[in-house]
Amino acid sequence: MGGGRVAVVGGSIAGCAMALAAYRGGARKVTVFERAGGELRDRGVGIGVHDDRFAELEAAGYMTRSMPWVPLSRRLWTVRDGGSDLGRTMARQPFPFRAYNWGSLWSELRQRVPDGTDFRPETDVAEVSTEAGGASVRLADGTAEDFDLVIGADGYRSVVRRAMFPRLAPAYAGYLGWRGTSEAPADLPEGGHEEARTVVFPGGHCMMYLIPDRKEGHRMNWVLYTRPPAGSGLDAELRTPTSLPPGKVAAGLTSYLRGLVAEHFPPYWADCVLRSPEDRTFIQPIYDLEVPSYVRGRLMLAGDAATVARPHIGAGSVKALQDAAALESAWRSGGSWQEILTAYDEGRSTVGTQMVGLARRMGEEQVVRTPDWQAMREPDFHAWWDGQNRGPASGGFGGQALRRD
Ligand SMILES: Cc1cc2nc3c(=O)[nH]c(=O)nc-3n(C[C@H](O)[C@H](O)[C@H](O)COP(=O)(O)OP(=O)(O)OC[C@H]3O[C@@H](n4cnc5c(N)ncnc54)[C@H](O)[C@@H]3O)c2cc1C
Repeated sequence: MGGGRVAVVGGSIAGCAMALAAYRGGARKVTVFERAGGELRDRGVGIGVHDDRFAELEAAGYMTRSMPWVPLSRRLWTVRDGGSDLGRTMARQPFPFRAYNWGSLWSELRQRVPDGTDFRPETDVAEVSTEAGGASVRLADGTAEDFDLVIGADGYRSVVRRAMFPRLAPAYAGYLGWRGTSEAPADLPEGGHEEARTVVFPGGHCMMYLIPDRKEGHRMNWVLYTRPPAGSGLDAELRTPTSLPPGKVAAGLTSYLRGLVAEHFPPYWADCVLRSPEDRTFIQPIYDLEVPSYVRGRLMLAGDAATVARPHIGAGSVKALQDAAALESAWRSGGSWQEILTAYDEGRSTVGTQMVGLARRMGEEQVVRTPDWQAMREPDFHAWWDGQNRGPASGGFGGQALRRD
């Protein structure tokens, strides 16, 4: 079906990919409303993409080999071991992933948004609504515009989702991710360039891997998951979906997290975290969100606006790009808005729910009730890992395979 005016709310990973999908599907006019001004690319850290998911997304035309990346092949799970600088590696897993810098991934997608797109930065959407045969967008400056379809690619605090499901909100998982990057070590252990390192400690873990630095070199990307300190009062604050950007993390919280790293990490890996400039680290509270449907009337959801899965499955950006590939495919084979929207919803909402379930299980095991890592031996580790990877989403680590019709 050709034609149609499409609005995309949000111009991040899902928004850029959805604008591309709408054009490829045949939309006549695409408008992207993005609240942020300037360059989003300066704000991200690392993203991991499973090799198989990359191959599918490349075939679908949503990723290319020109996007800078670092190949990863193994994941090592490491515990502190007395004074040993590197600690003890307790388990090894294959880890066929590509590591990206979020900023360069976004820039490459932004460049692929077709020239005819009306991309409006610094434009805040206040409200959306749907009525028979269309949908409208009201901007924060009070003006309103009508469209045939409005796509919510506006992240975990989506206004589009609020219009579709006013009672739904992301549920706080009870812990946070502390993120940052540091200068890449010059003396990585042999093979370390291809390794994702997971340092484990009572009550959480921290994952580290190299990413491209958007010049010619690398940075060490890390993310540490744990509960906020007891009695900090943060739990209540984090229940309302939020994030604490660089420079806004309270000094008390930062010193608690730094102390935790100094106490529980092997010294070499502690240094990778602790040498990150404090004002460039940020806090991402962890949420779960699933929706009963990706479509209501002429409103549609994509990326984090639709589902937020805890990051442990390494598939947030993959899912956003897959949503776009699925929309294009539904559009190409659909003869009417109804057919396109139904096919998209059927293809994506089940995948979203399965990913949220798998990620929740992984988060509970890897952060909320961590095993006795010190006592764990390699066979125990693999049994523990397989136990999390069960159910309808098993095998979904790194994202479910893209079904292409
Ligand atoms: C600046 C930035 C940096 C990030 N860095 C990382 C990272 O390093 N690693 C990682 O794993 N994930 C990162 N993420 C999250 C990651 O992009 C998402 O988890 C995933 O890729 C899905 O993306 P999304 O486009 O659905 O949501 P998001 O990336 O959250 O994008 C939502 C977009 O919608 C815009 N928006 C929201 N509300 C409105 C509104 N009312 N009107 C107009 N625009 C609106 C936001 O400004 C934002 O650009 C980052 C997100 C952003 C915005």
